[in-house]
Amino acid sequence: MPKLGLAPLDWGNVSGIDRTRGLMVIKPGEIAFEELSPEDMTVVDMAGIVVEGYYKPSADMLTHLRLYQAFEEIEGIAHTHAAWGTAFAQAGHWIPAYGATHADFFHGAVPCTRELSDGEVFGEYEQETGNAIVEAFCGIDPLAVPAALVYRHGAYAWGVSPADAVKNAYALEEVAKIAAYTRMLSPELPQASQALLDKHYLMKRGANNMENIEE
Ligand SMILES: [Zn+2]
Repeated sequence: MPKLGLAPLDWGNVSGIDRTRGLMVIKPGEIAFEELSPEDMTVVDMAGIVVEGYYKPSADMLTHLRLYQAFEEIEGIAHTHAAWGTAFAQAGHWIPAYGATHADFFHGAVPCTRELSDGEVFGEYEQETGNAIVEAFCGIDPLAVPAALVYRHGAYAWGVSPADAVKNAYALEEVAKIAAYTRMLSPELPQASQALLDKHYLMKRGANNMENIEE
């Protein structure tokens, strides 16, 4: 995350899950990325109970657990406050699929969650953040669009492994930056055609998936 410029001031965290054993490994909040070693990572069960590790898990643990619970095919999650994704998140804007770079990673616009109510913010905030992401993905395949913006907060990206999640978080940041520039140049530009989005998304994944898209 720091090498990719995704963790200024050590914001953000990454987790991975072992679904067979029902365990999640997550970065502890109090250790900087650069100082982190495998032994420092915190292991929790699916209820969030620490089963191994010296440190408290990241404060965002319950958001991660909620996403693993709802999106059954993902095995890694990265959370960032990197600038371009967070700018869209704070504005409450979805990131439109303006072109090929976007479609290589995200098969459609990247959703932004609704605003949490005061009760949700003061209540089970981390859990509600996860719920809001799941709610925003109603009708959207989380593997086809492996990231979400959290309104007034930042970005979550996920994938089939923690490394894949970080890669998608980086793609999200680049795509958000390009989209912001695109909107600056052409504020009324619509999304790219479905044909172009399908073409690029599928090219990255092989023709086997074509049937799914054509349904
Ligand atoms: Zn955050």
